[in-house]
Amino acid sequence: MSFCLHTGVPGRSRCSSPGPPVQPLGLPLAGFRKGCCSHGEQRESAEEGAKVSLMSPDQLRNKFPWINTEGVALASYGMEDEGWFDPWCLLQGLRRKVQSLGVLFCQGEVTRFVSSSQRMLTTDDKAVVLKRIHEVHVKMDRSLEYQPVECAIVINAAGAWSAQIAALAGVGEGPPGTLQGTKLPVEPRKRYVYVWHCPQGPGLETPLVADTSGAYFRREGLGSNYLGGRSPTEQEEPDPANLEVDHDFFQDKVWPHLALRVPAFETLKVQSAWAGYYDYNTFDQNGVVGPHPLVVNMYFATGFSGHGLQQAPGIGRAVAEMVLKGRFQTIDLSPFLFTRFYLGEKIQENNII
Ligand SMILES: Cc1cc2nc3c(=O)[nH]c(=O)nc-3n(C[C@H](O)[C@H](O)[C@H](O)COP(=O)(O)OP(=O)(O)OC[C@H]3O[C@@H](n4cnc5c(N)ncnc54)[C@H](O)[C@@H]3O)c2cc1C
Repeated sequence: MSFCLHTGVPGRSRCSSPGPPVQPLGLPLAGFRKGCCSHGEQRESAEEGAKVSLMSPDQLRNKFPWINTEGVALASYGMEDEGWFDPWCLLQGLRRKVQSLGVLFCQGEVTRFVSSSQRMLTTDDKAVVLKRIHEVHVKMDRSLEYQPVECAIVINAAGAWSAQIAALAGVGEGPPGTLQGTKLPVEPRKRYVYVWHCPQGPGLETPLVADTSGAYFRREGLGSNYLGGRSPTEQEEPDPANLEVDHDFFQDKVWPHLALRVPAFETLKVQSAWAGYYDYNTFDQNGVVGPHPLVVNMYFATGFSGHGLQQAPGIGRAVAEMVLKGRFQTIDLSPFLFTRFYLGEKIQENNII
């Protein structure tokens, strides 16, 4: 958030969407769930400099009288440097900034890698094949032709499609249970976002609220509109083949939770909705950052499972450090390396919504 507030990258005048780039009115309020915002997590956040406080149901009711605290054990309330911003605005701002610094963009679909292989023996005499990518084939828009692009480094930031890109480079092509046979466990998961109108809904001081049920919402603008949703359970996972919105999902699986938590939402009216893909890491729902151990010049920045936007500035810096200096410098992100999939070392993310 401080990246958005202080760098001014996604400047308002250069962004097509209306409103300020950062909306700091209202502060995130998370984890109404027992165990979700544990004292341990709160202590960890505080140690990292986040200004969060834990609130009892009574304190919560006093501060936000529109909340029904039924089933709430504890709430975690962010008091500083919290808010929300328009992701498209951030992306366009960053694009323009790096273009002004000389970065060239070439748009097309990566369809093939050309690489060389070298057979090596590990210290315990196991044979491994190291690969280095030399050329990327990029299919241009509305054309059957491709452009061969020589490269020293490939950064796989293909989001929900990053496992396909990894497979093109040979990641996971090997006997099961070996490093060579370990696939990138990232897949597209379809998620819906709904916008509703509710003149009786909570006012301008409303923070982003994440409920015990996994339902979440925040205000959208100043006209009594709200934006929110809820991730489906494993059993409810929709088919990711298309981006059609399931309106029944809101009626049956989202709205009842919203109306229970905020009784004023009994009368809400849905105005619009859209669907998008999470780059869902099925292993531990966390990002994958840094080089592949065997395809030595492919670096990952993927698998963020619905929280990649807020991590993007830090991830960008970490990947840049890894590429330029060969190691993480500012923040040690080594627990997020690809090798954890082979070693079975989860960095479980419990708080995705
Ligand atoms: C409904 C929804 C709500 C979300 N809410 C939040 C939130 O509140 N907070 C938060 O932090 N995050 C949120 N996220 C997650 C966030 O949007 C993602 O983590 C983030 O967009 C990931 O960015 P990315 O650049 O890694 O991948 P993407 O934005 O998915 O970009 C990947 C790019 O790779 C391209 N690509 C794919 N295959 C190829 C190929 N073969 N060749 C060339 N290019 C290719 C794609 O076209 C795309 O442009 C949400 C996501 C969804 C869907």
